[in-house]
This record gives sequence, C-alpha cells and structure tokens, in this order.
Amino acid sequence: MKKYAVKIYGDPVLRKPVEPIDTFDESLEEFAADMVHAMIEHDGIGLAAPQVGVSKSFIVIGLPVNADDPDDRKIFTMANPEILEESEETVVMDEGCLSIPDITEEVERPEWIKLKFQDLKGEEYEIEADGIFARVIQHEIDHLDGVLFVDHLSPLKRTLLRGKLKRLHEDSKVRAEEA
Ligand SMILES: [Zn+2]
Repeated sequence: MKKYAVKIYGDPVLRKPVEPIDTFDESLEEFAADMVHAMIEHDGIGLAAPQVGVSKSFIVIGLPVNADDPDDRKIFTMANPEILEESEETVVMDEGCLSIPDITEEVERPEWIKLKFQDLKGEEYEIEADGIFARVIQHEIDHLDGVLFVDHLSPLKRTLLRGKLKRLHEDSKVRAEEA
C-alpha cells in the first residue's frame, strides 16, 4: 500500500487539468484502495486524485450511512466522472476541503445532478444524485478541473479569506522545499 499525503492549497497540482483514466487494471484498483485509505485517514468524505498529486480523472467518496457509527460508510470509486445534467434549483451548504484545512464556507450549487462515470473495470454507469451525495460529487469533480470550493465564493468572501489562504500557500511552499 502506498501512503499519500494530501496536497495543500497553493500546490500547483491542484490547478492542473487531469488526464482521463484509460487503463482499467490492477494498478487502478490499488490506487483506488490507497485513495480510500487516505480519505478515511484524513477524515474526509471525498477525495480527488489531484489532491494526492496524481493528475488523473478519478475520485473516491465515502458517505457516512450510520449516524451512530462514523466508520460505517458507503464507498464509491469513480473514474472519468462527468456531470450530464443539473437542476436549476440550487442549495447552499457548508463546504470544507482536505486541501484547504480549517476553512469552511457556504457554497451554492445545483441540488440535483445526473452523471456518468466508469467503475474500476471500466464499466460505464449513469446515476442521479441529490443531497450530500450530489454535493460531494460536484466538489470532487471540480478538483478534476482545477477548481477549488473557494473559487465559488463571492469576491467579498474571498477577500476576507485572503490572509488565511496566503498562509496555506506559504506553508505549502515550505513543505515543497522540504520534500
Ligand atoms: Zn476538496
């Protein structure tokens, strides 16, 4: 098992567009398992490949399904996910991101989406999602386009966060130099 560190705001890989997954073999299964592990270890409910420094179109989601047991999750692994349709109706929810620690902000997004993706064998699926599931999927697919949730905030909110984001950026540069 490979242990991945989560890349932090300011790391250029978070802004880099991804390549599609075109090989569905054992190494993809291993990568998926490593990503699920990293997501759970960092206490996230979703993780996109660029967040572990891999510019590939791949996301994992771990939705809590039991309020009494946070470790009880439904895991999804999605290669080449793509949103096909979205509702005009939007909802506002608090969002955070493992790559932007200690910041949560309200973000407005479509309430419902229809998407397609491929599983670890390359089989294609089309599903609909709403609620927290739709929210996490949209957040993770944004990562594949180099988009971060803070990009959705109003200019005023972004200005208010500028100091915090700059500090994260500086820290990530120090970490890159140490690596
Ligand atoms: Zn994120």
